[in-house]
Amino acid sequence: MTHVIAQPCIDVKDKACVNVCPVDCIHGKDEDPQLYINPHDCIDCTLCVDACPVNAIFAEEDLPSEGKHFAQINADYFKKG
Ligand code: SF4
Ligand code: SF4
Repeated sequence: MTHVIAQPCIDVKDKACVNVCPVDCIHGKDEDPQLYINPHDCIDCTLCVDACPVNAIFAEEDLPSEGKHFAQINADYFKKG
């Protein structure tokens, strides 16, 4: 299991989640459309969920149907190296 950042983060990117993550697994560059959670490092503590002002973060299993593909988008980000 992991948590996943979905559509609402796009163009918001305020990094509130980054500041609360205890394992520093949320990343993204200035030029990226959103931030991403590394599924291999996330410990499902849920702290980022409450920190996000736009409710962009979901447990993977709780992603809304229109946002299911964000699980792959988050995971793929960390395959680029
Ligand atoms: S659930 Fe916890 S470990 Fe996972 S990304 Fe959010 S703050 Fe980090
Ligand atoms: S707190 Fe929410 S909107 Fe802000 S960067 Fe994190 S996921 Fe994106």
